[in-house]
Amino acid sequence: MASAVHAPSTRRFGFRGRIGGTQSPSRGHEMTALTGNCLCGRVSWSSLGPVTHNLVCHCEDCRRATSSPFTAFVRLKPESVVRTGDVNHFESSRGTQRRFCRNWGTRVYFRSEKWPGAIRIHAATLDDGIDCLPTAQVVLRSRTSWLEGPHALPGCRDFDAPPKDAVP
Ligand SMILES: [Zn+2]
Repeated sequence: MASAVHAPSTRRFGFRGRIGGTQSPSRGHEMTALTGNCLCGRVSWSSLGPVTHNLVCHCEDCRRATSSPFTAFVRLKPESVVRTGDVNHFESSRGTQRRFCRNWGTRVYFRSEKWPGAIRIHAATLDDGIDCLPTAQVVLRSRTSWLEGPHALPGCRDFDAPPKDAVP
């Protein structure tokens, strides 16, 4: 049933449509319905599988790939994820492929031969109203020095809002 899970990982890369094989719920993890999409909406994904580990990553590859100081991932079982829409990929390091929307470039997920049983989807693509709290942050040695404690910064309502318009 779950043969695709154990196929050589190089075959899974480039698999169009369904990212994994057939669904095979694992014991000990709650099944969670998740959906998400890219900026232009041409790539969307859904999962009915367990969410096994959510991380915030500070590594340089993630920072440069996403043009953001850090990024957050939800880790899912490949066989529980279905993707629609076309993606391209960039091999950021040997055996690690970062997939992004062919139309506007939103990073959607990455897979690595190091972790064949995992697909890490960018949590920022989750649909509004779905929360996936991170459980840890990794590669802290690469953390940007210029953005410490963003939640402590004053919040403004919009780009052009004056500082006095700060919200708590
Ligand atoms: Zn990273």
